[in-house]
Amino acid sequence: MSTESFNPFKMAQQQFDAIAEKLNLDEATRDLLRNPDREYHFNIPIRMDDGKYRVFRGYRSQHSDARGPAKGGIRFHPHETIDTVRALSMWMTWKTAVVDIPLGGGKGGVICDPHNLSLREQEAICRGWVRQIARNIGPNQDVPAPDVMTNGQHMLWIMDEYERIMGVKAPGFITGKPLGMGGSLGRTEATGYGVMFTVREALKEMGIDIKATTASFQGFGNVSQYAIDLYTQYGGKAVAVACWDNKEKKAFTFRRLSGIDMHELLGITDHFGEIDQAKAVEIGYEILPGNAWIEQEVDILVPAALENQVNAITAPSIHPKVKLIAEGANGPTTPEADNLIKERGIWMIPDFLANAGGVTCSYFEQVQCNMNYFWTKEEVFEKLDHKMTIAYHAVSDLAHKKNIYMRDAAYMISISRVAEACHLRGWV
Ligand code: GLU
Repeated sequence: MSTESFNPFKMAQQQFDAIAEKLNLDEATRDLLRNPDREYHFNIPIRMDDGKYRVFRGYRSQHSDARGPAKGGIRFHPHETIDTVRALSMWMTWKTAVVDIPLGGGKGGVICDPHNLSLREQEAICRGWVRQIARNIGPNQDVPAPDVMTNGQHMLWIMDEYERIMGVKAPGFITGKPLGMGGSLGRTEATGYGVMFTVREALKEMGIDIKATTASFQGFGNVSQYAIDLYTQYGGKAVAVACWDNKEKKAFTFRRLSGIDMHELLGITDHFGEIDQAKAVEIGYEILPGNAWIEQEVDILVPAALENQVNAITAPSIHPKVKLIAEGANGPTTPEADNLIKERGIWMIPDFLANAGGVTCSYFEQVQCNMNYFWTKEEVFEKLDHKMTIAYHAVSDLAHKKNIYMRDAAYMISISRVAEACHLRGWV
């Protein structure tokens, strides 16, 4: 698969097919699970600030609701495609299954670039998105959440519009809401912290002291920020982070060998997670090319940006010192790169396990909304750590027992659970 023709849905299906074969899944179950249960494509007409009208394209894919309501984020991205949304919805099914929460997999998106939209225009897109899909989603059908370039404010606009349409209060309809508006403490940190809970467990298994390790990150959005934060709290040294620069339309790697500081960097970062280069240089960072993050002489790599970043072109430059990769993003590694990583014996914590902390906390958010009683941050983190640690060890135990790649072990657990739900329901 060359990077030009990269199609995330083909990749997700390729991964699924390989494991379905290993599990000896029957034909009907394969047919059922290799495509989304249903998907929606729709127009979102908006009046822009200049008075002109523009029509945006919106999507929602519900891959599977066999284990519970579909669950997954909504992305705003100029290069969004239905195949990306399909793949991401499929990965959500495996994600909720691997952490064993009673939810399925869904994903939504809008082709748009929030960099060029005012807040009012973004609000109109959020409200327009839910108006087109309100009949087909809801707390018991399909529950959206934030993803790339969407945040708690977007979720609240979507919830407000949904409640107006339905004439009810439905805080369990969407997750990732702001605190005090049905949001859960710890949701902001949850995905990044979840990544680090699994890294901590992996290093323990490998007999490596986290304090003696270094790491390089790709992306400086919500996931990466809190992964760096917890990694540093654990005593690890993050030395590089690659981040998108929208003015130059390319990424750069910010490196400081004495250690990068997430809070200090946040102070010079805009709300899209873009770091100010001049200010970074002033506080001792070197600015390197976008792909330099993957070449760093570190123990741990954390791709936490977008799909197709660790691929046939970039993976050969992974430094021989790297022992562990934890995928904060969805689908960052292509099957070709997986082969190389396997050959090198690098331990892989695959995306739908490593970054499942977000959806796990979303599930906690729903539970808290449903009982209308909210937990302390400590309670949330304790429950999150527990879920992530159990899920990590279930996958790693299987990988060790069968001597298989971690991604394959995670897939085996998830696909078996979802297939069993389909069988028990009598669908196939
Ligand atoms: N968008 C996040 C993910 O890919 C969170 C999904 C959710 O909380 O439902 O896992």
